[in-house]
Amino acid sequence: MTTTTSQFGIKEALAQLGVKDINEGTSTGLHHFANGEILESFSPVDGKLIGSVKMSTSQDYEKAILSATAAFKTFRLMPAPQRGEIVRQFGEKLRQNKEALGKLVSYEMGKSLQEGYGEVQEMIDICDFAVGLSRQLHGLTMHSERPGHRMYEQYHPMGVVGIISAFNFPVAVWAWNTALAWICGDVCIWKPSEKTPLCGIACQNIIAEVIKENNLPEGISCLINGDYKLGELMTSDTRIPLISATGSTRMGKIVAQAVAARLGKSLLELGGNNAIIVTPDADIKMTVIGAVFGAVGTAGQRCTSTRRLIIHESVFEKVKDAIVSAYKQLKIGNPLDENNHVGPLIDTDAVKMYSAALDKVVEEGGTILVEGGVLTGEGYESGCYVKPAIALAQNSFEIVQHETFAPVLYLIKYSGDVDNALEYQNGVGQGLSSAIMTNNLREAERFLSVVGSDCGIANVNIGTSGAEIGGAFGGEKDTGGGRESGSDAWKIYMRRQTNTINYTTSLPLAQGIKFDLQ
Ligand code: NAD
Repeated sequence: MTTTTSQFGIKEALAQLGVKDINEGTSTGLHHFANGEILESFSPVDGKLIGSVKMSTSQDYEKAILSATAAFKTFRLMPAPQRGEIVRQFGEKLRQNKEALGKLVSYEMGKSLQEGYGEVQEMIDICDFAVGLSRQLHGLTMHSERPGHRMYEQYHPMGVVGIISAFNFPVAVWAWNTALAWICGDVCIWKPSEKTPLCGIACQNIIAEVIKENNLPEGISCLINGDYKLGELMTSDTRIPLISATGSTRMGKIVAQAVAARLGKSLLELGGNNAIIVTPDADIKMTVIGAVFGAVGTAGQRCTSTRRLIIHESVFEKVKDAIVSAYKQLKIGNPLDENNHVGPLIDTDAVKMYSAALDKVVEEGGTILVEGGVLTGEGYESGCYVKPAIALAQNSFEIVQHETFAPVLYLIKYSGDVDNALEYQNGVGQGLSSAIMTNNLREAERFLSVVGSDCGIANVNIGTSGAEIGGAFGGEKDTGGGRESGSDAWKIYMRRQTNTINYTTSLPLAQGIKFDLQ
């Protein structure tokens, strides 16, 4: 490695994961196609260069797609439970590499070490889920209206799944997609975020071992590293029937149009603008923990981060004081040091967006309740550490309507009943995660009812941030409408076929239509 740090065992983690700098030769993983320009990965933790890797060219992309397409021809023939066994082995390798991969996630992306480990745990969990699912890719059987006919539906794999992922979950989102796609019989091409290319290589190295040990075609898992231009190659390519894209709403709108123009399928997981409603019946202690973790965890860089607290006027002062006082206890610093609560933003561009949001909320008439600011000096050399801030705001402010990917929390006051809070809650473009803090059954059920939250995720007495893999994950409106992970999310990775079999000697037509030939 040209420049790196040995702190917290990062050097050892990279060695264990087989992630090499270009000056040390190529990384061990199979099917990492990269012969282009150099991409440097700097850590937001200390600003140091972790390593330089090569980006993939359009020729590399072509090799990847050919390899994936060829691999699909054999992989689709493997029985689903046997594909589940491959995913089981992958989960085992992730367990063995949890510490190393978790550290790399933390160092390259900047989230806390606990969250880095948690992200790898999420990969392990989805593998376990997918293994069981590999024996449950059920279709329905129906009663035919025609005598002597049998009708059922079955699911076949789609082919090549293109995965485009965001920086903030540099490994888990790939696993959510691949674990399901693989048991469904699909093969995958992954373009990780250009901000976290080393996490991509590490993951590819882990699955490459499993593929090699099982003598399977390498193209089952392909990695290409690079920026949006590679993503554009994928979205316009008719050889990729399904594009799963995670990132900003801006990106999702471009991807959706490109994929739809060729009548492909897309699975979109885009931005959120998540709120917690705090009613007069809320447990204030639970509210404070949920809100603070939701707003400052991962330095506000989760798609499910809490951005808005919609508080009833009768408890507003109490909740505000409790949260402002909790913010005083926050320790900001190196996320690999478990004493710290808040790590850095991903880069200095993100810092600029954070600062601009704070200026804008004041410009629009908001009041700063907890001052923000960029931290400098020892431990903050990367220039990416900011103070979590709180502002009193109106839901209608332009900046409040916008997802700022940073620890900025807006407090919004409501009066009257929970419907007024719901109007604010739903009154934004995005529809990912939502929560209500209340001990009042009527309010909770109203929040969950058809006139309640319009989000893909609606929680009672839990914050907005984070989710378990067992449920389908995703959101509505500007969040893109996609569902990943648990429940029946696997269906998007397969094509459905309805089969009708006639076991008689006559050919009756549906709807009683008569068509007789002499
Ligand atoms: P981003 O949109 O900048 O980039 C995401 C990915 O899209 C990257 O790999 C990028 O190279 C690629 N990309 C960008 N433009 C493209 C184009 N025109 N065609 C094809 N690919 C393109 O997002 P980011 O800054 O990496 O991540 C933060 C965003 O992701 C936030 O908005 C967050 O809410 C969202 N996110 C959503 C979820 C979810 O499940 N809903 C999960 C994680 C992150």
